[in-house]
Amino acid sequence: MNAPRPIRTPRELAEAGLLTPEQVGSVERVAERYAVAITPAMADLIDPSNPNDPIARQFVPDPAELVVTAEERSDPIGDLAHSPVEGIVHRYPDRVLLKAVHVCPVYCRFCFRREMVGPQGLGTLSPEAMDRAFAYIESHPEIWEVILTGGDPLVLSPRRLAEITERLARIYHVKVVRFHTRVPVVEPDKIGEDLIGALKASRKTTYVALHANHPRELTDDARAACGRLVDAGIVMISQSVLLKGVNDDPDTLASLMRAFVETRIKPYYLHHPDLAPGTSHFRLSVAEGQALVAGLRGRISGLCQPAYILDIPGGYGKAAIGAAAITQGRDGCYMVSDFHGQQHAYPPAPKE
Ligand code: SF4
Repeated sequence: MNAPRPIRTPRELAEAGLLTPEQVGSVERVAERYAVAITPAMADLIDPSNPNDPIARQFVPDPAELVVTAEERSDPIGDLAHSPVEGIVHRYPDRVLLKAVHVCPVYCRFCFRREMVGPQGLGTLSPEAMDRAFAYIESHPEIWEVILTGGDPLVLSPRRLAEITERLARIYHVKVVRFHTRVPVVEPDKIGEDLIGALKASRKTTYVALHANHPRELTDDARAACGRLVDAGIVMISQSVLLKGVNDDPDTLASLMRAFVETRIKPYYLHHPDLAPGTSHFRLSVAEGQALVAGLRGRISGLCQPAYILDIPGGYGKAAIGAAAITQGRDGCYMVSDFHGQQHAYPPAPKE
């Protein structure tokens, strides 16, 4: 029997009961513009009888994606402005992104790189481009960390991943290698010994940043896959996007962050959604996001708290945008908010 394949077309979505026959035509127009893929693990999680299913909302194309608003941009976080050679983004002094591949196992409908990923995207780096990317890393001794992203680097075979990590092993000044991926959740069976060996072949400190947005994504299989990574000595952190209709309520966010910690994944970033084209139906206001994040404080353990982050449009980097817990009060005092929202005075330092 053949292994189940990912769903890649509107017709296959309808066959799986994830679209009605009437919806196929309008979704085909979306699929002409943006890539579609839903792995069997994610398709199985969707409740087709729920029109607001948070997993479906992340992966099933929606005609709303054809509405592009004035503030949206094809390169919302400004990768291209900081790309000295193909495949490298050097935005901060001590680290670079290495984008080896622009393919993903699933295509998220809110993706910030949706104009770059997929079959019509930037593809996989050629061997010559990879040589130039490595020459760049080798010639910049300030690069302490290399972050493999894309696309999803874990779509590469273990052999090709190991070629990359073994090259990184030979660069003395690189101390940390980080992979950004959705694979442990969307294709958990892929996390086997060969792949883990390839991730660790750099012999550097290895981090895996798991992208997941709803607690239901942390299935038993996903938790087991993450367990194999952590047991192998890989440190795991999370990144999520705050998405309207997916996780923009306190219970869902709290469950998601707890699920990470239960899986030995430290919650790291909760991203405000980027201004990617055709994604306005996912965006909530910064004030709504701040209120949700403030509500996590006191409600769930300090271990479960993510940093609420905005990637400043245009490539200016990340900014922490959680509401300030402390403000200037009277007579030099500060006013500090507790987790109920009540204010308390805190004295200035003796020489302030
Ligand atoms: S896995 Fe990441 S890069 Fe790929 S579609 Fe989703 S958000 Fe975009």
